[in-house]
Amino acid sequence: MQSTLPRTYLILVGYLADGRQENKEKLVDGCLYVKDNTGIIPCELLHFELEWLESLFVFPSWSYIPQTDQSAAGYLEILVDPVPVNAPKEVLHSIPVTSPVSAELLLTSRITCKKRSKLTLAGELTRLGPLLHVHHKTFFFLFLKCFASAVCVPVLVQQPSQLLWHHVFQLGHRYTITGLSMSSLKKSRQPVFVTSASSCLLPYCVEQVREQPLDSASQGESTQSSSLETAERLSCPLQMGAEEEQPRPTKESKIISYVGFVTKILNVQAGLFLLDNQVCLCLAYQPLLNSARGLRPGACVELIDVHLLQKPLVSFPFTVLSACLSSMVVLKSFSRLSTPYQPPASSGNLCLQLLFRFNLGMPLYLWLVSLLETFEERFSCFFGHRRLLSSTHRNPGAAEKFLVPLLQAMAPDREEARDIYNEILSKIHRCPLQKYFTLSPPCQAPSLSAVCHVAEQKSWEGFSPSQLLSSLEAQHMGSQELNRRLAWSYCTLSAESFQPQLILLGVLRVSSRSSSLLLQDKSSTVPCVISHKDGSPFAQTALIGSLLQVENYQIVVERFLKTDFPSWEHLENLEHVRKKKTSVYVQFYFEDVQVLHAADGQIQKDLRSGNSSCLRRKKDGSTTSDLETPEEKMLKLKDHKADSGRDESCQGGQSSTGTTSCVSHLFLVTQKEGLMLRNYQLPAEENEAQELLSKKQSSFQATVLWLGRPQLWSHPREIGNLSELEETGDGEEGVMQQEALLLFMGKSLRWFPFLHVDGLYRFIVPCCSDLEVFDKLYFSPVPATFPSRPSCPLCLPVQDIWHLQHETWISCLPEHQLTAMSVLTGMDQRIASIPEVLSSSFTGSLVSFCGEIVERTLCASPKNEKPSVTAGLPKQKGTLLSRDHSVKLSVSVASGSPVIMDIYITATYLQHLRGLLPGAKILFQNLERKISRFHNVYCIYIAASCVSIVSLPASHLPFPSSPAGKASSPSLVFLSNLRPQLKNLAQARILCHLSCVLTVCLQWICSLCSCIFKEGRCTRHNPPCPSQTGVRQASARVLVEDGTGEALVLCRNEHVAAVLGLSLLEWEAVQSCVWSRGSVCIQHGEAPGTGCLEEPEDLVACYLRSLCRSPLICRPILLDFSLDRKPSKILQPAPLQLRNFHCGEVEFVSQVGPRSSLLCLKVEEVGQDALHYLNSQRKSRTSSSC
Ligand SMILES: [Zn+2]
Ligand SMILES: [Zn+2]
Repeated sequence: MQSTLPRTYLILVGYLADGRQENKEKLVDGCLYVKDNTGIIPCELLHFELEWLESLFVFPSWSYIPQTDQSAAGYLEILVDPVPVNAPKEVLHSIPVTSPVSAELLLTSRITCKKRSKLTLAGELTRLGPLLHVHHKTFFFLFLKCFASAVCVPVLVQQPSQLLWHHVFQLGHRYTITGLSMSSLKKSRQPVFVTSASSCLLPYCVEQVREQPLDSASQGESTQSSSLETAERLSCPLQMGAEEEQPRPTKESKIISYVGFVTKILNVQAGLFLLDNQVCLCLAYQPLLNSARGLRPGACVELIDVHLLQKPLVSFPFTVLSACLSSMVVLKSFSRLSTPYQPPASSGNLCLQLLFRFNLGMPLYLWLVSLLETFEERFSCFFGHRRLLSSTHRNPGAAEKFLVPLLQAMAPDREEARDIYNEILSKIHRCPLQKYFTLSPPCQAPSLSAVCHVAEQKSWEGFSPSQLLSSLEAQHMGSQELNRRLAWSYCTLSAESFQPQLILLGVLRVSSRSSSLLLQDKSSTVPCVISHKDGSPFAQTALIGSLLQVENYQIVVERFLKTDFPSWEHLENLEHVRKKKTSVYVQFYFEDVQVLHAADGQIQKDLRSGNSSCLRRKKDGSTTSDLETPEEKMLKLKDHKADSGRDESCQGGQSSTGTTSCVSHLFLVTQKEGLMLRNYQLPAEENEAQELLSKKQSSFQATVLWLGRPQLWSHPREIGNLSELEETGDGEEGVMQQEALLLFMGKSLRWFPFLHVDGLYRFIVPCCSDLEVFDKLYFSPVPATFPSRPSCPLCLPVQDIWHLQHETWISCLPEHQLTAMSVLTGMDQRIASIPEVLSSSFTGSLVSFCGEIVERTLCASPKNEKPSVTAGLPKQKGTLLSRDHSVKLSVSVASGSPVIMDIYITATYLQHLRGLLPGAKILFQNLERKISRFHNVYCIYIAASCVSIVSLPASHLPFPSSPAGKASSPSLVFLSNLRPQLKNLAQARILCHLSCVLTVCLQWICSLCSCIFKEGRCTRHNPPCPSQTGVRQASARVLVEDGTGEALVLCRNEHVAAVLGLSLLEWEAVQSCVWSRGSVCIQHGEAPGTGCLEEPEDLVACYLRSLCRSPLICRPILLDFSLDRKPSKILQPAPLQLRNFHCGEVEFVSQVGPRSSLLCLKVEEVGQDALHYLNSQRKSRTSSSC
């Protein structure tokens, strides 16, 4: 993959320099340069002699390494020692020398030596500290060892002209340094030798040195032993993963030495390199060697005294070798591969800033780096690296806003700040790398595509179709119903559902194609639903384009299954699952959103291209703008590209005028309709346009009331107050309160999620100064040949470049403005309550109400509702719902409320409707109210309808498919309380007397065609039915009375057994007897002879009949029921008749009204004790109600 460096056959001639003379103010950084009169370029040498400085050289072998960023300059790698053009300098004379043994004595008893003249030291170099830049000073430490003993003394080199010595020193070589004085460091009071301006570095040469023998009494071994043995340990293989599973949390890192080749640059900003494809080298804890020049893949490095950390982070695949300030990193050979130079950022390196600010250990640092890497990868294409990462003290960047709270939580009180002098000089080594623990990442923020992928996976994890149904119900279902019940399900995931916890990050977008809100990163987009905790709809248009962080959310995975299970018995056989699909979206509250990077207003963004520089300078506020490196300039250019590419709004149009002025118009939304295909006859000049527009296209419309006149602003930023509201009160009402119908099509569809009834919004026409811009676009919805009527509002097609800005809600206006407004609108009571809508006195066909979804079921579409209007809507990807399906939402006023309203929505509308989940509170607007044949009130979702989510379901909802999710026992009522207008009662309970069983019917039916199924075969012959599967079904009608009234109860399946008082075994036996007969039905009780004739010899029928006649069947029971909304009329007696009632021994005669029809939900036997208790309760309630 990586090609070798091309050989350069050019001979380079130049001076070696340290850059001092180039620019006097420039900080001398210890770098070497090659220069001539045309320029200067940094260079790297493996070997350097001091006398080479400022000499003219011929460089016979060298490579030029360009930067990854092509526009920036690279550097030279000098492969072979340069050849001097002039004669070398003269050798110095012999010098008196103090060897380190005596020097250490001098250091320890420094009081007496303070006034001594300059010293000369000679010794072997045992350690060379890295070049440090602290407070605009550059310096380094070195350690010299006495030749005979192990005593080492530290020397501080800080003269700018001596920084080059750093290149000269080689470990194990002997040196002489002159002109040293003694000093102690301010902070740590460590005594050190310090070079002076006159100090010289000389190679140690026995002939030139006259020893100054001092008494060598103290040769104690008390000193730090950083001996030569380390070199012998080099390149010994690492024991990888040997002690991985340590029970104790903190581990001690080993100090080792290592020689290896750089094989990959993992992250140069974070100082992470891969050596020999197996260990990670971390250089973050010391300044990066020569700004990472030379550290290219293929280079050989020697590491001395580095810390070995095994598995510091669970998710990090490598063992880490990390250099601290007492480690040495030496470049041994240059790379021969042609890999470019990636320079570390000179300033604003967030990784390192945070490392030092929080004094992070290796595990947290690696975690931080991985978070930052993904963060950059995901969002730098939208905002540019610079805007994401750069942070001033007062104005932290997006990445910092994201990371700092996480680090604060993880490292709340990192002990003391790092003491670098102590780390270098102390005899007992102390650094942040010594102790560590294996960190499992506490949270993650992966890409959105990964989030979706994991969520989908989780939604199918351990999924089986039988979970979605209770087996009691499922065993009686025909194939069609069974598969329909499986077709659509969902599961919700929260941050805690993921391990580690998942933080959602994304740029808020709005799609004009799907008219939905999206979270976006580089990898993907995820639709999202945002609500306010106070129930007001989400309308923050200013948030578009902002980078959001959400930690409290629900990821909803809608599961779609295409199955062909013949019956419930086959549910375990997954061959019948033909197709699986999911669609994922996320919902959260606006209050849980943290804005990491606020978008500039859309309009400001448009204007920026004109005078960007002045805006930027205002933002930065300081002089930094003129110190821009070419690199930063490039980033800016990229920024702009990214912005304009993503920008969905203003392009072209009036923007060519270059003006910043804009026109705005305030309005109140009085009605909003849903998305549908509409066919508008727009007044078009050209035939082409006419043709285009007469096609049906997705659109929505809203009725609005203009407030005040259009206003002219010199700059969008100045738009602010609601001054228009003040002028609405007085005169000229015709103009002021004009109503209009706004048409949203094409790109303006993006305002759909933001536009809500009762909101005050403003249209802003950017780059425009024409106050009549709105008037010019009006057209009448009726053709011009008709006389226009004032009642018919004018239509206004919303232009793509217009910007919508939400101002406030009508309910938030101060009182004086509000009264003016309500006079204007005169429509406060548009939202009804569910009981109001249900009541028979309700008039009106379009209704709006608010309610909580209790249940969401898929059912076959009502035959009379043809989904023709929506047939052309683009098919939603990811759904497998067929068009003839519709969804029934059972909605109650509040959770636990017994009154429910059913809403039917055909599948084709569902693609725009997210968040319709059990537990969610929804505002339904403009539903069509309907009355069924049975006089039940229900609603259907039509093209003009729309929904908005008032509150999200609580996250602790029971799994929706589990039948155990129902509320506790329903309330106890009397039959006389049941009034027909309470038809939508969800569930109630009575204590009653079962007075007689009217009919019982047991059947086996074909699961495919619902014909009678007899002896394992479907009885349908014309055409023959291939079905092999039959399903048992049972029904019974019984009469009950509770002393206040009488009711007819329809029981199904297992409830029939309960009513007949049969045990499970008995019931099984009876049902299996029906298998050979197909069906057995009996009629009993009052209405004899109205049903079919029974065959007297049938044993099962005889058994059932005798069971029904038995006096044991008449007993008290506790019955949970709902009202039968499709009651049978056949069994209804004439209204108002006299009937006998029994209560113990006493018999009553009472006049009763029509019977209620109930649907049995549960039958419970009542013991004597319970009966007594319940009766006493009933009595107390009756007396209290009398
Ligand atoms: Zn260390
Ligand atoms: Zn059949």
